[in-house]
Amino acid sequence: MTRVLTITGARLTDGRVGGLRALDGTITALGPEVRAEPGDEHLDASGLTLVPPLVNGHTHAAMTLLRGYGDDLALMEWLQTRIWPAEARLTPEHVYWGTRLAALEMIRSGTLRCWDMYFHATEVARACADAGLRAAVSQVILGIPDAPAEARPEAAEDGLARLAGYGPLITPCLGPHAIYTVGPDALRSIAEVSDRHDAPVHIHLAETAGEVDDCVREHGLRPVPYLDALGLITERSVLAHGVHLDDAELEIVAARGATLVTCPVSNMKLSVGGAFRYPAARAAGCAVGIGTDGAASNNSLDLLQDVKVLSLLQKHTTGDPSVLPAADAWAIATGATAPRLGATPLEVGHPADLLLLDLDGPEVIPAPLDAGLVYSATGATVDTAIVDGRVLMRGRVIEGEDEVRARAAEAAAVVRGEH
Ligand SMILES: [Zn+2]
Repeated sequence: MTRVLTITGARLTDGRVGGLRALDGTITALGPEVRAEPGDEHLDASGLTLVPPLVNGHTHAAMTLLRGYGDDLALMEWLQTRIWPAEARLTPEHVYWGTRLAALEMIRSGTLRCWDMYFHATEVARACADAGLRAAVSQVILGIPDAPAEARPEAAEDGLARLAGYGPLITPCLGPHAIYTVGPDALRSIAEVSDRHDAPVHIHLAETAGEVDDCVREHGLRPVPYLDALGLITERSVLAHGVHLDDAELEIVAARGATLVTCPVSNMKLSVGGAFRYPAARAAGCAVGIGTDGAASNNSLDLLQDVKVLSLLQKHTTGDPSVLPAADAWAIATGATAPRLGATPLEVGHPADLLLLDLDGPEVIPAPLDAGLVYSATGATVDTAIVDGRVLMRGRVIEGEDEVRARAAEAAAVVRGEH
């Protein structure tokens, strides 16, 4: 039987009042003329604004379990004394419930597609599929001696295959952690696997100046030419952070069609020693998205907060308030400036993924739409979230939320060593 969803009475981004009709998860009509028909699932969106959903280009969803655990420490001390010991206690079930908690937070704050890299990735995929969220999921790959079996480079191809069975919302990806945790031979073989399966590769890159210095010392090349020589700068590459990239590296990224995902809040919290060079990346023609990074280094998955920080950080760093105006920042948040991240524009023929926002709150009015979205709104303005024509949240209510919160709290206590 055909699933029909009709939304009427919404404010459209062009200022008109109208709606949307979706058949089996695909938008078939959009505009003021849309009417509900008998038998449709019908949402009256009066007073709400219809916008596309947000895309979180880099996260470790299950790290919600480690939110607020080891704040205000330097990166290596944080990793060595807090994060890695806690991650050693993670079971697949912990990852499932941590990811479900992240999915709740993402849905409630308007992110309906995320790019994840973590341990026990099949549980990440299962959790996102159960939550109804679109996700590009990668098993983290670590070329270190005590890496768990499923995280070893030789397991990468099998890991990709295991992620294939979680339904149409889940895109299997490869997740080599970084150039300082995975060696060149393993990176080259991951590039070959990516090529064979046309699978995206999600990797941390140039997060700190120290990483760049080490790369130059060990390999005689900066990070982008190093990865490029290994076949890992392609249109399938999603490069998280990219803080310390020079102009020549940005030109390679643009020429290969790779995607940069900036994570401004995580970068500032961990003091990575600089800001993403957005004006240079834009001038080079790079595809740019935004990510929260994990909830342990942010500590929120609310992209509407992060996109404001992104815009402010760019203005502050360049000393130029005209850099990254609200409309451009909104385009980054929705993935419109990074097509490979899989954004779903609100257009006929595209998936019925959408948000209905309540922008009438005293914290937003009377701002124009773009400025209101980027500088004033938070995720709390999201009233309704829909993926594939299915309502995940309506009136800020998500089915099954209490169980997810309880099970995630139990998992968190174990992982944090509190039980
Ligand atoms: Zn990360």
